[in-house]
Amino acid sequence: MDIKSLIRDVPDFPKKGIIFKDITPLLKDPKAFQEVIHKMAEHYKDQKINSIVAMESRGFILGGALAIQMGVSFIPVRKPGKLPWKTLQETYELEYGKDTLEIHQDSIAKGDKVLVLDDVLATGGTAAATIRLVERAGGNVIGACFLMHLGFLNGHEKLKSTPIFSILHY
Ligand code: AMP
Repeated sequence: MDIKSLIRDVPDFPKKGIIFKDITPLLKDPKAFQEVIHKMAEHYKDQKINSIVAMESRGFILGGALAIQMGVSFIPVRKPGKLPWKTLQETYELEYGKDTLEIHQDSIAKGDKVLVLDDVLATGGTAAATIRLVERAGGNVIGACFLMHLGFLNGHEKLKSTPIFSILHY
């Protein structure tokens, strides 16, 4: 199946100069959505993962589906002030300014094998901050999984030794 044809490029969203990769046509196609989740599950099936940590908000859509498919825990990473319990926080640099992500401090057992998952790897700041959160919470990040890797933005360099798996490459 041609998964790439179900990703819609939306120029100048949310601001000028950004080509937004819209995954809603893919989510609308049950066979394509299933194929993506099955490919991800297949890739990690022998790694004895305990949990999937995904980032608000499109990471939740893929992460919830993959957690069910693999029979593992789902753990959300959210923007500040959204999680109700005690949190750990990581702040990271954006092109203009900073952003912060949070995880529940008791969400991961020490030594748990964690897969980090998001829809897009762009500059890598979001994924790198999430990896730091998981490590501070006691987890062992075994990989970072994305639907799309925008290779020209060199986000993989920020993820250093974490193995990356991506379904689509740009
Ligand atoms: P980054 O931290 O630069 O790797 O950005 C990754 C986060 O921003 C992910 O959560 C993506 O959902 C979102 N993102 C970045 N660039 C795009 C894009 N071109 N289209 C859609 N989402 C994007």
